[in-house]
Amino acid sequence: MIPDSFKQDLLNRVDIVDVVSRYVQLKKGGANYLGLCPFHNEKTPSFSVSPAKQFYHCFGCGVHGNAIGFLMAYSALGYVDAIKELAAAAGMQVPESRPPTPQEAARKERETDLYALMEKAMEFYRAELKKSPRAIEYLKGRGLTGEIAARFRIGCAPDGWQGLKAAFPAYEDKALVEAGLVIEGEEGKRYDRFRDRVMFPIFSARGAVIGFGGRVMGDGEPKYLNSPETPLFEKGRELYGLVQARDAIRRAQRVIGQINSSAESLRDELMGGIPTSDLQTCMKVLARIRERAGKTDKVRSRGNAGLDRRFTRHNGHTKQGNSIQKKGTFRKGSK
Ligand SMILES: [Zn+2]
Repeated sequence: MIPDSFKQDLLNRVDIVDVVSRYVQLKKGGANYLGLCPFHNEKTPSFSVSPAKQFYHCFGCGVHGNAIGFLMAYSALGYVDAIKELAAAAGMQVPESRPPTPQEAARKERETDLYALMEKAMEFYRAELKKSPRAIEYLKGRGLTGEIAARFRIGCAPDGWQGLKAAFPAYEDKALVEAGLVIEGEEGKRYDRFRDRVMFPIFSARGAVIGFGGRVMGDGEPKYLNSPETPLFEKGRELYGLVQARDAIRRAQRVIGQINSSAESLRDELMGGIPTSDLQTCMKVLARIRERAGKTDKVRSRGNAGLDRRFTRHNGHTKQGNSIQKKGTFRKGSK
């Protein structure tokens, strides 16, 4: 038996649109994606996939379910095998079959709280950005329009030791420390980790905020400050911009480097802030995007050039001695 907590983790990690589009050609239509139902014969698409609900539903034959259900139905897999296949694709290890310990159950509950807390923090930072002409000027100066700031949910951490108190009156809640938002110093003194910085939320593949990257607006140090590892945020597993990039690819049928130049410079800047040890992960994730985006010829021919160019530029930014070797690895691994 697979623990229910793992099933939930898995469903949080995978995106049903990704899963379905491995088998069914989907087109964006409003908030959902539409395609020809693989479970009954039809000429006009009535098979709908909702990224928000993480469900598929066919208006023609009535089939519906989540990512696991889809894989079971489409590939005629058993429940356990469907989970194993999804987990493998998401780089997750299926745990030994045993019921969750009370500690694990408690941790799971805690995580749910942390997601809500991070979301609230992001909304707080976004509201702060609107109040900070200096931060707005800073972003404009870097070529980021309001539209991009909104799309990337960019915010601003106010200057001050306990700015988050405005959003979290229970500032002593240990969840704030656990989420990496608040630091507990000596003698139990608490203060905001991010102060006077432009804030870039980091999203899971599912679109939940799991961390932040904060950049100073002036000459302060460190230039970039990222969330520490938390129960939600494992560095190396997530990649900033993945969710946005994926949406952009779907929408525009183009690959990462060809999104508009402002967003590109933003991503370059952030990638400059990713530790070089994460480069391999970064490449793997991008290779995955490219592989999926490359499903139509149009994308393949235009997309690869853009991505390779991006990596050349990216490696240039990191000034790594072995950049050529890394680039080679990426190309080889993605073919
Ligand atoms: Zn159907």
